[in-house]
Amino acid sequence: MEKKENKGGDFRYSVGESKVPWHAVGEFFNGNDALELVKFLLPDSGKTEYDAALRDTAAALERLASVSGRATKLTLGEKVAEAEEAAKAYFGSKYACFLTNWTAGMEIGYKLSGLKAGDEVIMPAVTFIATMAYPLSIGAKIVFADIDPETINLDPADIARKITPKTRMIVPVHLGGYPVDMDPIMRLAEQHGLFVMEDAAHGMGGAYKGRKLGAIGHFGGFSLHEVKNINSLGEGGILLTSEDFAGEQLNGARFLGLDFSRKIKDWLYDISPLKDRFGALQIPGNHSATEVQALGMLLQMRRLDAIIDRRRKAAEYMNRILGEEEGILTERPDTPETYGTHHLYLLRIDPEKVGGDIQLLSKKLAEKGLTNITHFGPMYRFRIMRELGYCEEAIAETCPNTERMFYHSYTHLPLYPLTREQLEYQAQAVVEAVREMKAGK
Ligand SMILES: *Cc1c(COP(=O)(O)O)cnc(C)c1O
Repeated sequence: MEKKENKGGDFRYSVGESKVPWHAVGEFFNGNDALELVKFLLPDSGKTEYDAALRDTAAALERLASVSGRATKLTLGEKVAEAEEAAKAYFGSKYACFLTNWTAGMEIGYKLSGLKAGDEVIMPAVTFIATMAYPLSIGAKIVFADIDPETINLDPADIARKITPKTRMIVPVHLGGYPVDMDPIMRLAEQHGLFVMEDAAHGMGGAYKGRKLGAIGHFGGFSLHEVKNINSLGEGGILLTSEDFAGEQLNGARFLGLDFSRKIKDWLYDISPLKDRFGALQIPGNHSATEVQALGMLLQMRRLDAIIDRRRKAAEYMNRILGEEEGILTERPDTPETYGTHHLYLLRIDPEKVGGDIQLLSKKLAEKGLTNITHFGPMYRFRIMRELGYCEEAIAETCPNTERMFYHSYTHLPLYPLTREQLEYQAQAVVEAVREMKAGK
């Protein structure tokens, strides 16, 4: 292996053969710090061998630290660039930007799409609040599309009904990792001159008609928060685009208008605002992610396909067992055209056949020791919407499937990293609970 010379500096501040170098990193991390990081990521399991293994590790790290160089670039360096190259290659998009989290990615996507106060954004009635946070913060109006009862993803036919002259964007969410039917949405967007941003927070690695989720809309991206399919040490996000006007501004968009991929000519004046697709100015924030986060993503991305594969097998197993029981509606399996990530298992029931609705089933599952969380409920029912003047009941009337499905029919179950025994127990417990309901117990 060729040894890289450690220059002990920062490319940004590189001043060549300087006698007094400018270090971007205030304090270095030493061997003991590294040991604490190892202990944090690989904590005490209670096994008796742990202490001995930790002593060996400490000795090895001390030896390593005595001959090692020092990490001198901790943010927006080579690892972030590598993570972005890996994302571009894997997802097939022209540009990628690695960020603190996906909420920040969406903020940038909204800004570059030119969203402003008074504009309307159509998104599913069922998603996580992060999807609507930025539009709400600038006084844009959220228009909720009803869901498709099969997948609980937004229904393209309802989007078509809700487009008005004020609509600027459509934000489909691949909920639970199940691919949204993107073709009709992209067609609507083209007809009406709208931008599409895919919230693929659950969809990293899934595909629709041969294209990776997140790389189909004008913008799209993923969360690398610790509860998603893979994570970058707790927090992280990636924004994708193939739009040149946007892609060329991503470096500045993430860091206050400063683009460090170019040589900074003038520190006082070389800071530009963003120009959205209408040419209007938008003010960038700071969403820079660290080198260690990027390394975390690179490491876990190597396992992404294998992780999805294991999730798919778990979902297929759930479908096999639950499919035998009348009244349980199994998940739509993958097809050659739609390849989900199986981030969550969507459990649905037919309340009439089961003789009770999801509220009772959820309670029974909890009593049997299963976690089942209907994380994703109608957003127009959130208190903040009332406080912002949205009329809950009027919106509910435009989202009949959302109301029916959320209150009577669905919940989510985990799929990964369950052991075989846990998965079998989970499937069996659902069947038992449904049988109890049928028997009126
Ligand atoms: C997690 C999540 C987000 C936000 O991602 P962060 O990286 O936590 O900011 C957005 N949308 C959905 C559907 C999510 O589940």
